Amino acid sequence: MRQAVKDGLPVVPAGGGTGYSGGVTSPNGGIILDMRRMNRVLDVDRNLLLVRAEAGITISELNQYLDSFGMWWPHDPGSRAMATLGGAISVRGVGTYFTRYGAAPDMVYGLTVVLSDGTLLCLDPRSKSRVTGYDLLSLLVSAEGTLGIVTEAVLKIWPQPEFREVRLIAFRSLEEVEAYVRALLEEGVTPETFLVESKERLTHEFEWQNISPDRLQSDLADALWIVIFSFAGRQFSVAPAVARATAMAEALGGRPVHDVAVMQAYWERKTKKLTTERTTIPSYHVADFGMPGPDFRNLERIYSETTALFHLRRKGIRFYVAWPTGDLVCSAQVFYDETDVSSTRRALEWNKTVAYEVAKHGGTISAILGIGVRLAEVLEVERTPTELEVMRKLKAVFDPIGMMNPGKLLP
Ligand SMILES: Cc1cc2nc3c(=O)[nH]c(=O)nc-3n(C[C@H](O)[C@H](O)[C@H](O)COP(=O)(O)OP(=O)(O)OC[C@H]3O[C@@H](n4cnc5c(N)ncnc54)[C@H](O)[C@@H]3O)c2cc1C
Repeated sequence: MRQAVKDGLPVVPAGGGTGYSGGVTSPNGGIILDMRRMNRVLDVDRNLLLVRAEAGITISELNQYLDSFGMWWPHDPGSRAMATLGGAISVRGVGTYFTRYGAAPDMVYGLTVVLSDGTLLCLDPRSKSRVTGYDLLSLLVSAEGTLGIVTEAVLKIWPQPEFREVRLIAFRSLEEVEAYVRALLEEGVTPETFLVESKERLTHEFEWQNISPDRLQSDLADALWIVIFSFAGRQFSVAPAVARATAMAEALGGRPVHDVAVMQAYWERKTKKLTTERTTIPSYHVADFGMPGPDFRNLERIYSETTALFHLRRKGIRFYVAWPTGDLVCSAQVFYDETDVSSTRRALEWNKTVAYEVAKHGGTISAILGIGVRLAEVLEVERTPTELEVMRKLKAVFDPIGMMNPGKLLP
């Protein structure tokens, strides 16, 4: 970093390169710093339930390592085999177990960061339990490589749950789903996972081992929305919680999928897939956004209207529900043809339009994938000019000559 400053070279930290926001592009030249060989686990503290690992380790490598201790780090994105720890925490990644454990940075307790002048800043893991001073940890975990290079992180880990039950419940409308979520929030139970997928999303990703589309169809019939939930822990508390949540769903119009093989195949694909091959052609683009509350219908309306406006084929939408707040994080996808400039442009413009619309309705323009170059110009609709000014001043403290991942995050 000292040499790069001397030579005036921009530095772009890169993990698995799986991000959707153009965070590891370097349009102005400079150095792309590939972190993937810093991939060691340095320490597992089973007493304090913490692991210290280098930033370039992939999520699946980390969890394979922890598996031998009967522990896990519950951030589990579909890109687990390629995405790195540094990348996941830098963009605020969200995975299957978000409902109970939050986003990737929520599970970070300590950080080692190389600043632009070569200073090594070590944020002690105990800082998470101290409440003194400015919260540098929160600032640095989701900075998208614009404030420094994360080299190590200390993460909160948990013993692997002894028992888990998963259910798929089919609903005919989002009104029913919303009523169900509100009822469950009042009930006081805490699912480990709570996802809501449109039928098109669920079936577009359909490559579930030996399950045929017909077999799936017979269970889903006229359903348009599928709730996927899991409860985990000791069997004696999980079983009644699942029974109660299932009964409540039925009372509100939900129909549980009874085919156990279908449920298992879905879950296997969602949580175990390790392939790094490209499976979807044509390409798809993702808009990720959030809402502080279970306003499913408003977000779905924005998705429907904007995809129609840009003549894009829908790949479907998935909501991750946070507990106990009922906040929504949403991943909405469209197909486009990456060999066609106009189709690519429409997909990118669609993403920005979604972001403008979501911000207008009180939501956040990006909740999973970071701002990168993709949405930098839209940030000013969500943040006030004063907020942006303070952010720029903060950036200048960490990076006075603007070398750290320039052009990303801040417009
Ligand atoms: C098939 C597929 C499925 C996906 N599923 C999910 C999902 O379920 N959930 C989800 O959240 N995302 C998902 N993603 C998106 C992507 O995998 C995540 O955004 C991931 O967290 C990015 O990690 P990465 O290591 O690839 O980061 P990169 O793409 O390499 O980098 C992302 C950003 O982080 C910065 N960065 C990387 N490493 C460091 C570091 N050490 N220090 C500082 N900054 C750094 C980069 O500069 C860049 O700005 C998916 C992507 C694909 C292709």
